Amino acid sequence: PQLTNQIAAGEVVERPASVVKELVENSLDAGADEIHIEIENGGAGLIRIRDNGFGIAKAELGLALSRHATSKISTLEDLEAILSLGFRGEALASISSVSRLTLTSRPPQQAEAWQVFAQGREMETTIQPAAHPVGTTVNVANLFFNTPARRKFLRTEKTEFNHIDEVIRRIALVKPQTAFILSHNGKVVRHYRKAVDPQQKIKRLAAICGQDFVNHALQIDWRHNDLHLYGWVADSGLLRPQNDLNYSYVNGRMMRDKTINHAVRLAYGEHIPSESYPAFVLFIDLDPSQVDVNVHPAKHEVRFHQNRLVHDFIHQGISHALESATE
Ligand code: ADP
Ligand code: MG
Repeated sequence: PQLTNQIAAGEVVERPASVVKELVENSLDAGADEIHIEIENGGAGLIRIRDNGFGIAKAELGLALSRHATSKISTLEDLEAILSLGFRGEALASISSVSRLTLTSRPPQQAEAWQVFAQGREMETTIQPAAHPVGTTVNVANLFFNTPARRKFLRTEKTEFNHIDEVIRRIALVKPQTAFILSHNGKVVRHYRKAVDPQQKIKRLAAICGQDFVNHALQIDWRHNDLHLYGWVADSGLLRPQNDLNYSYVNGRMMRDKTINHAVRLAYGEHIPSESYPAFVLFIDLDPSQVDVNVHPAKHEVRFHQNRLVHDFIHQGISHALESATE
């Protein structure tokens, strides 16, 4: 099983930032509204994620580390309508196969916390009592210590940390109700405070995308049947520093999606006579059964069942906003 896990790890865990993404998604799935991300040496030394979510019961702790063990879906029908960020039950098993992983957790109904760590080829897990408030901490030390080839591909500490920073920015944009505290080598470098009212949310948008983006962006809000497109689009040429941020989300999941990018650029090119590209933060919500999220192990791609329809819907929404703005 350890070898299978290491192979799977190649698909889920490219670099420290992918570990951070998976672990933070787990914290969000657990309903956390405060997540601490502590990084040392660009993540190669240590990645520690602490949340105040609903935790993992003692009896489930060992299971959480085993492959394809997920508490999030139990039937094939569930897979058709995924609302949680995780569902493959692969992340913890994969990460623990290429690092020294310790999982500590306390659900609210448990008086004390318990801790497990995986060791050895057969993934024996050892369980012991620990001190921890309600919630979960995942400690990932010495990433890729046993896969030297992969370790060699890591870039400088600064570059790896920048990737982590970017992951947190992207997630923080879509989860304004959650506080994120990111630190590197003992120093807090980002603190996105819990944003509840519209003003606080705009503040977070400005903190992540820049005040320039907020000042120049056109707000989008467009609906058709079950489809909802909302967010902001701005001319990247107007932004200083020139910024072509392209952030898109499908049902709250961050994505790099060709359909979305293409539709936005097409609409933009038709209305704005400029050389520059659109910068955007766009959210698309649709019936989860209309989108396949199980396309890639790292879950950063989706497939729309009605791709053309979604494309044209986005194109229309952006066109409409640009037309009303120039009238
Ligand atoms: P998945 O997220 O696809 O279910 P993971 O390997 O990421 O798979 O996690 C395995 C299981 O461990 C989850 O289904 C969940 O039950 C539990 N888990 C992991 N992280 C947390 C967390 N921070 N809080 C609560 N439960 C967690
Ligand atoms: Mg997960």
